[in-house]
Amino acid sequence: MSTIAIALHGGAGDRNRTTTTPQQEQDLCNGIADAMDAGYEILKNGGSSIEAIERAIMIMEERPCFNAGIGAALTEFGTVELDAGIMEGTNRNVGAIAGVQRIKSPIKAARYVMEHTPQVLLIGTRAEEFLSKAGLEMVEPEYFITEENQRLLEKILAEQQATLQQHTEKVVLGTVGVVALDSNGNLAAGNSTGGMMNKRSGRVGDTPIAGAGMYARNGVCAVAATGYGEYFIRTSAAHEVYAQVRYAHTDISTACNNVLADIQTLGGRGGLIALDANGNTTLPFTTSSMARGAINANGERIVELW
Ligand code: ASP
Repeated sequence: MSTIAIALHGGAGDRNRTTTTPQQEQDLCNGIADAMDAGYEILKNGGSSIEAIERAIMIMEERPCFNAGIGAALTEFGTVELDAGIMEGTNRNVGAIAGVQRIKSPIKAARYVMEHTPQVLLIGTRAEEFLSKAGLEMVEPEYFITEENQRLLEKILAEQQATLQQHTEKVVLGTVGVVALDSNGNLAAGNSTGGMMNKRSGRVGDTPIAGAGMYARNGVCAVAATGYGEYFIRTSAAHEVYAQVRYAHTDISTACNNVLADIQTLGGRGGLIALDANGNTTLPFTTSSMARGAINANGERIVELW
């Protein structure tokens, strides 16, 4: 079998080991494992990295434990505004959507934009109208909203009221992302998210932005990011990893650590997953947790949270 590999993140965050229940931990790890195995199966059968990424992310979008699709983080008004993006390393094609409220699978919509339009990023209700006409499944916005997230938002708003301070940075949830290498040597990266809890309505983070939340180029690497998105945009995080690997011949692990360290000097935290052209994987993070999984070129498999 030619070299194939996959790595996934289920969001960098500051979970507390003592307050995270065994059930929550199991849900996150099962979600990662199920998505990873489905994606890997596609790669094993000769499917493309884009297929594998779309499938794996769609599985996680349907699990309420992740901040993507059902269970997405809520805006300051308690609504959802979803972002997703996908990038192909073969030709550096990109498709992304942002601020959508009714598209059932944001990653599927991102892929549609990449494959069927000359644009890269579509936003808001006009994007929904176009994608609905194109045949993508639509749902009511409430479909994505969980009671758990409503309670969390209420708590944050009450605390904010008490301290008169915005503190969205404390609540980073489980955005999802996948990087994959298929048997034809094609690298790709994709992400899907609700953004950050209590975000300003209209805010778009790094997740759908090529170069910030994701980047892929054949023969070099594929990268996906999670964390406080503004810092990942300001540092062009995913492209910075790629540039270090391509031009300075840095290995992916060192490059990711360099970028996370740089982000930390600005005050931001999060995680990166990356895959090089030989199927090596790395999944570092600077938060207390990041649900993650990988199967590298040697078939070595991990699923971890802390
Ligand atoms: N990066 C995402 C954003 O800023 C959040 C996350 O990764 O959880 O929208």
